[in-house]
Amino acid sequence: MSLTIDKDDYIIVRHRKKPTLCFVLNAKSCRAVIEKTLQTDEPEHITYELEDVLCNVGPNPLDGKIYGCDVMPYKRTIETKKFGPILIFRDMEPKELKALQAAMKSVYAMYEKQASVDFLPLYQIHLCPKKGKYAGSYHAKLKVGEAFDIMKLHPDTFSDPIYNEYLIAHEFAHGLWFRCVPLNLRVRWMNLYQKRLKLSSVNEQHLADLCHEVVRYEGTLRDYMKEVAEDEEKLVIKEVLNYFKRYHVMSSDDIDLMLAHDSGKLADMWPTRAMLSETRPDISQYSLKNVEEFFAEAISYHFSGRILPKDVQKGIKATFLACRK
Ligand SMILES: [Zn+2]
Repeated sequence: MSLTIDKDDYIIVRHRKKPTLCFVLNAKSCRAVIEKTLQTDEPEHITYELEDVLCNVGPNPLDGKIYGCDVMPYKRTIETKKFGPILIFRDMEPKELKALQAAMKSVYAMYEKQASVDFLPLYQIHLCPKKGKYAGSYHAKLKVGEAFDIMKLHPDTFSDPIYNEYLIAHEFAHGLWFRCVPLNLRVRWMNLYQKRLKLSSVNEQHLADLCHEVVRYEGTLRDYMKEVAEDEEKLVIKEVLNYFKRYHVMSSDDIDLMLAHDSGKLADMWPTRAMLSETRPDISQYSLKNVEEFFAEAISYHFSGRILPKDVQKGIKATFLACRK
């Protein structure tokens, strides 16, 4: 392959049989460093063979995947005492960085005053290009009893100061949860979360009536769901579909086939019990994902000065008190 390679290019090299992103240090002597190891204490240097170079993505590659390699070049690290090292994997306007640092400082002050900052400094904070539908994530890891937590931030932009504060307060709340909130209070948050999920059972008669209607209907179960069923009934039908999938390993096509040719058998197999779970979001829709997100949303809403439900306010008060001890 004839390829022009220059110093400071990123290239994908077949290294130990695997495509590997490398950063070229010296094109003449074919010296490069494995990009992934650049952020570690011991960057791994290699001498590549030209025939092993799969492609050259230049000195400033876009983020993405090439040959199955994640291309998200590491740029630099900002060392901070309070928060831990901030590793940058994206272009960052000085203005954005300033806005982010200001938000981190002000959120830190709020946590320090009201709750605790014992979960800081983190092992690493990553600033990444926009990825997926969420703006951040928190990875709690213990190695030989020590915390190696990583917070990843990947919003569209860091130029919105209000959003920065919300985002950091949310991700810090995960740190607080893992490192400072005592178990008895975690249980209290589980109860607060469960209160917002309403489980109701669908009775046998209801299910029998539905079965009768579906068998009489000229069409598939999915058509029935689309054209006849009301919103509440749609949830019941979804549960019926789940039941067939789970206990009879039947797809909705299988159900429709049986409905058309042996509806009596289908009626015999029809479920006699079903549970519905309805959510009652009173913080954010996202808060109902699980108890940790519920906690993180509550805490970040609290710090942004929004009014929270009474029981949640009390939970926060008790939690902060316990964290300060
Ligand atoms: Zn979260």
